Amino acid sequence: MKILFVTPELYPFAKTGGLADYSSSLALKLYEMGHDVRVIMPKYRSVRSITTEMSASLVQHSIELLNIAFEFTIVQASLEDKVPVYLVENDGFFDREELYHTRYGDYPDNAVRYIFFNRAVLDGVKRLDFRPDIIHCNDWQTSLIPVLLRSKYKSDPYFKQTAAFLTIHNLAYQGSYWHYDMKLTGLGWEYFTPDTLEFYGRLNLLKGGILFSDMITTVSPNYAREICSKKHGHGLEGILKQRKKNLCGILNGIDLQTWSPETDPHLPAHYSHTSMAGKTENKRLFLQEFGLRSKPGLPLVCMISRLESLKGIDILLAMCQEMMHLSLQFVVLGKGRFDYQEALTALQQQYPDKMRYFQAFDEKLAHRIEAAADIILLPSLYEPCGLNAMYSMRYGTVPVVRKTGGLADTVIDFQTNPARATGFTFNSYSGKALLQCLKNALGLFAKQKSWRQLMLRGMTADFSWDKSAKQYTELYSHIIKRKTE
Ligand code: ADP
Repeated sequence: MKILFVTPELYPFAKTGGLADYSSSLALKLYEMGHDVRVIMPKYRSVRSITTEMSASLVQHSIELLNIAFEFTIVQASLEDKVPVYLVENDGFFDREELYHTRYGDYPDNAVRYIFFNRAVLDGVKRLDFRPDIIHCNDWQTSLIPVLLRSKYKSDPYFKQTAAFLTIHNLAYQGSYWHYDMKLTGLGWEYFTPDTLEFYGRLNLLKGGILFSDMITTVSPNYAREICSKKHGHGLEGILKQRKKNLCGILNGIDLQTWSPETDPHLPAHYSHTSMAGKTENKRLFLQEFGLRSKPGLPLVCMISRLESLKGIDILLAMCQEMMHLSLQFVVLGKGRFDYQEALTALQQQYPDKMRYFQAFDEKLAHRIEAAADIILLPSLYEPCGLNAMYSMRYGTVPVVRKTGGLADTVIDFQTNPARATGFTFNSYSGKALLQCLKNALGLFAKQKSWRQLMLRGMTADFSWDKSAKQYTELYSHIIKRKTE
């Protein structure tokens, strides 16, 4: 199959969260399976610092936005010398410090930037002479593509056999802009109706993607069910229910080359489920380097997260004073909302001998913490997949999670199913419930043998991409077939 994978993030070129990991690992898996997969993404500033190996420009063209021609070029790089990566270059839009925002909030021209990108993708791919069977889009930043395919390009023979596929990684981010931005799409006002891109008087790009794609997936089965409810639907539940026949959840796999304690280049010591000494050594070195006391039997609890409300930071802060009086050490790696950053900085000042807060986005440190810690907290309000839970289990770091979204699909609770358990789960979104769940985990941590069993079960669980990638290709085939019928 010929697959054009359109994404706003791709590890290691540009990453703010799990979407980047997902994009690279799925693209590589599809390549391994023998498909002709090519990725296309914006050429952000971060891409330049990761790779200098890029082709000369393959395409040079322009997109007209509000009667002004904005030029773009497409150059080619590659993912691990395997998957071709097309980079859409327009420095005015993409050569910026961050992907989506500054410290003061979203870039005010995000609608222009991504509508431009979507239009350049379809315009550009024709000039690259790559005729995809499937265009796999991801999140609101690419959601105009399915709409354009079924409107502007509807009668274009080039895309006649091309099916549109959309994966939703987080329904809360919808690309919602004032109605006048409709003009940027190049489409007429007949596409600004309740059945198309209009949503409560605004332009809603994700809504367009949901309505116009041939198939929609989420990154876990449970999240696919949840988003059809008022509680988790962020207003789009009605539309999602309408498309229920073409909506399903496929659990993400993890990239076992990047996330394996046996080979991880970021770790000072390697380990596996058959030889665990390296985990103890990682913990010892980490504590030493960051000035925390090393004491056998003292658990190291961690959190590695974007600091956004959806990640459950409110309930963490509600219980953190009580938590810090327990016998444990606590380390947080995270960047995001200012009030959260300040609260965590204050917590570190209050408990300098027990807590470290790293206000950073640091890939290496994320790997080191996963390897050093005993327990990870994921108290999310909602969680489309939650790759971090899977990474943690692979690293023998036991997850304490709220039972929501993908976390409910991946973590088996000790209280309800001790024989198969891989972690601890709680239901109620409250500091009290989180604290109680952590206390349950600490209770088991004191029982070395049982704890070890729990760790080993997580470390040996199958989180590979094999099953999930097969599900993707089955869906691709299904919609390609439907298109040709
Ligand atoms: P989401 O996609 O919502 O951010 P996931 O758990 O699916 O949540 O993926 C998070 C990814 O981002 C993981 O790879 C995690 O290690 C990484 N991550 C989150 N915060 C940081 C940080 N501050 N520094 C480094 N990596 C981070």
